[in-house]
Amino acid sequence: QHSDSDSEPEFSSLSPSIPSAIPVTGESYCNCENQSEAPYCSSLHALHRVKDCQCGEEDEYFDWVWDDLNKSTATLLTCDNRKVNFHMEYSCGTAAIRGNKELADGQHFWEIKMTSPVYGTDMMVGIGTSDVNLDKYRHTFCSLLGKDEDSWGLSYTGLLHHKGDKTNFSSRFGQGSIIGVHLDTWHGTLTFFKNRKCIGVAATKLQNKKFYPMVCSTAAKSSMKVIRSCASCTSLQYLCCYRLRQLLPNYVDTLEVLPLPPGLKQVLHNKLGWVLSMNYSTSKPSSSSSGSDSDSSCGSDAEACQRKRCRRT
Ligand SMILES: [Zn+2]
Repeated sequence: QHSDSDSEPEFSSLSPSIPSAIPVTGESYCNCENQSEAPYCSSLHALHRVKDCQCGEEDEYFDWVWDDLNKSTATLLTCDNRKVNFHMEYSCGTAAIRGNKELADGQHFWEIKMTSPVYGTDMMVGIGTSDVNLDKYRHTFCSLLGKDEDSWGLSYTGLLHHKGDKTNFSSRFGQGSIIGVHLDTWHGTLTFFKNRKCIGVAATKLQNKKFYPMVCSTAAKSSMKVIRSCASCTSLQYLCCYRLRQLLPNYVDTLEVLPLPPGLKQVLHNKLGWVLSMNYSTSKPSSSSSGSDSDSSCGSDAEACQRKRCRRT
């Protein structure tokens, strides 16, 4: 019933094994997508929240949302500009959008939830500079993010794209999956998370570049929603919280176990809660690197993460 109708030669020659017309299933973070089709937005969300939803859409402050002025024509924004809907009726190309704020020096973390079936030539989460032309491929089905040197994109197929090159990066993601992105302009790293687990460092040496968060899609009636967008400067406070998180990775929220005064906990929760709850390791104690994103910690630092990925690819 979802007519993407994009049988692009480029894609079929690349990965003939992936049936692009069939949406990816079984990769959802929680079951809320199956329980209701109704889009809960803004304040109504809290009232009508789907029972047992674990997606954690409680955030009320967003550092950025999608930009109504910098998007492809085949996009429509809803949910206070947090949800982008692509190709409302049918698709004849690639649509893309960027955040409404340049990611300034410092630490940035955001999460994108796949709120529709995920299928087609490509649906991607990533970053790019203002040089990326979001409407360039409106009549072509392609993997827009990572086609040039100005952008990096993680495809739902698990491939990481940059400068037109593709590398195996993670397992696939689908409807209900939550893709997290951490851009650290101090260390110059771009790290991806899938369903709140680190899946690897996608790029290094990103210092002194100006990026925007970006997503793109070729699939008809597809959508993605920003459920978190946070920023903080690279302060000693940030580095301490980051280190604490690495030392105590097995708690949902590091603040729960730290013997700190309640006032200080509240301050840290408000300012750096995303760092202290970020999941660098997996729940499984498995140690073998099987090449999937279920292998051991992404952990301790970006370099280790990078090594892991190099070994894998
Ligand atoms: Zn949920």
